[in-house]
Amino acid sequence: MRGIAHLAFGLLIASIADLLLTFPSFLHTMLFYFACAFASLLPDLDYNAKLFLVHRGSLHSIWFVVIVLLVSFIVYPFLLLPLLLGISSHLALDSTTRSGIKLFHPFGKKSRGKLKTGSFKEKIFLGIVAIIDVILALYNF
Ligand SMILES: [Zn+2]
Repeated sequence: MRGIAHLAFGLLIASIADLLLTFPSFLHTMLFYFACAFASLLPDLDYNAKLFLVHRGSLHSIWFVVIVLLVSFIVYPFLLLPLLLGISSHLALDSTTRSGIKLFHPFGKKSRGKLKTGSFKEKIFLGIVAIIDVILALYNF
């Protein structure tokens, strides 16, 4: 999946969480959305650091999720849920692609689907998610 699809889906997940949760202030709401959107892009840092990391390797694994959540718990526990949702949304989308991910990298089998990154189907998916994003944004604010 491309970054824009991860971002749109991360914002969709944040919007759904916003429907279900009550935040103490508007600032917390904005922080929740920002953290979820940021986290939805975080695993693909390995794409830009190919010299050090394998793309769709350790940053696309459950171990990365655990480390980020531990750091978040120590630094600012409010960020636990949006970071969990954002990274999980990324891993869920990447597991639907042909390249897939190894959730327990380097162990286990790859979880993969039939979607090709950059394909017309991905663009249709992005369009649908973007429309729902706008509808939920108008509803939530
Ligand atoms: Zn990815």
